[in-house]
Amino acid sequence: MSDLADIVADLRARVRYYASLTDLGLPPRPATMAPVDEPAASIGEAASDAAAGLQGVRDRVGDCQRCKLAGGRRNIVFGQGNPSARLMFVGEAPGAEEDAQGLAFVGRAGQLLTDIIEKGLKIPRRDVFIANVLMCRPPENRNPEPDEIIACQPFLEQKIDLIRPKVLVGLGKFGAQWLLKTAEPISRLRGRVGDYKGIRVVATYHPAFLLRTPSAKKEVWEDMKVVLSLLAE
Ligand code: URA
Repeated sequence: MSDLADIVADLRARVRYYASLTDLGLPPRPATMAPVDEPAASIGEAASDAAAGLQGVRDRVGDCQRCKLAGGRRNIVFGQGNPSARLMFVGEAPGAEEDAQGLAFVGRAGQLLTDIIEKGLKIPRRDVFIANVLMCRPPENRNPEPDEIIACQPFLEQKIDLIRPKVLVGLGKFGAQWLLKTAEPISRLRGRVGDYKGIRVVATYHPAFLLRTPSAKKEVWEDMKVVLSLLAE
């Protein structure tokens, strides 16, 4: 009975998440249904290893024109790191520096994330994988919009399916809500362990927020201790 209650609660949270992405409360046609994209399930099976699989995903992204961000970007930021990472971070979207270099988290927020990983978790940054909900920079760093999130969604799903990390960290509202398929605020999502397709999810504040609010670093450190304990299990 409690399983059923959990399933219903999870479905309700998902409906609220997708409703929060639209004005109408109905999800737009998912990009997974677009004929240009292969279904995510077949991709994991076809790839003989995660690195080759990720290259396949990158090839399918191509010179992506699936949403309106294509016109304003300089580079697609696919995400980078160890294809067999045990720990994967999901941020929001590239900023100016990431757009210029084509790499995730290489600006000021990226430096802080590197410190969290290397000085806090004591893991070399090259051993984790870092991606974003969006692969293209929104103009003036505005928030991701629903159609953009939906257009990028299958590719992030495929990356996670291939990497199959032990722990996923959602950075900030957009990364955390995407992973947990909920519209709850980040302040309520952090501090508990969630689930994405059987992978443990820890939500924490975005490094850009920490740059503005250094006092929140203590909560992030609490969250990173949870990450370490999950990795050690
Ligand atoms: N903020 C993000 O969410 N992602 C990046 O790659 C850089 C800044």
